[in-house]
Amino acid sequence: MARTREVVLASRNPHKLRELSSLLAPLALVRLPDDVELPAEVGASFAENSLIKARAAARATGRAALADDSGIEVAALGGAPGVRSARYAGEHATDEQNLTKLLDDLSDAVDRRAAYVCVLALVEPVSGGSLRETVVEGRCEGMLIDVPRGSGGFGYDPAFVPNEQAEQNLTMAEISEAAEAAESAQAGKDAISHRGAAAARLLRLLEGSA
Ligand code: IMP
Repeated sequence: MARTREVVLASRNPHKLRELSSLLAPLALVRLPDDVELPAEVGASFAENSLIKARAAARATGRAALADDSGIEVAALGGAPGVRSARYAGEHATDEQNLTKLLDDLSDAVDRRAAYVCVLALVEPVSGGSLRETVVEGRCEGMLIDVPRGSGGFGYDPAFVPNEQAEQNLTMAEISEAAEAAESAQAGKDAISHRGAAAARLLRLLEGSA
């Protein structure tokens, strides 16, 4: 990339700003100005939701904007909770309530396959007032165990064993916990996560178009 690109992050979540800033290091992610209102996530897909947020931020600021939307898709539930992952057990449900509901719903399921999905949308104003849109997806395939383990990470991490760790049988929460203890931040999870895969894909595309 010829020079650092400044990109507004269309999110009010400080964890996302920190995590994506490190994953997308060649870009300089900038906080969304306080007066910009983000629309509700009413899309039927991760791509729709991330585009809704990135377009709104790009239009309001006149600058390039990035948004992400993510969740978990469970095979035995036909892909649910998907875009509803953050509110699976109710509008203001905690991570713990969402995880408990998911494991309850799966109590009789033999098929334990699941995948984390992350879609990143970059929307850039270009000459003539139109917007250039780049959308990438990253996935992390794995299995859900019955009894959660580990204290690192967040969300569904204590029950999710990524396929890359199937032999060691480590959950994403245990992988994050080990990385945090070794003070290598999220290195363990980032290397195999859906967000890490989407970020790497976006950077490759931007390098190609620089
Ligand atoms: P959103 O992307 O802010 O809409 O939230 C997505 C939801 O999906 C989170 O609240 C979590 O429940 C779940 N999720 C997304 N990524 C992860 C992850 O890396 N680990 C665990 N849960 C995740």
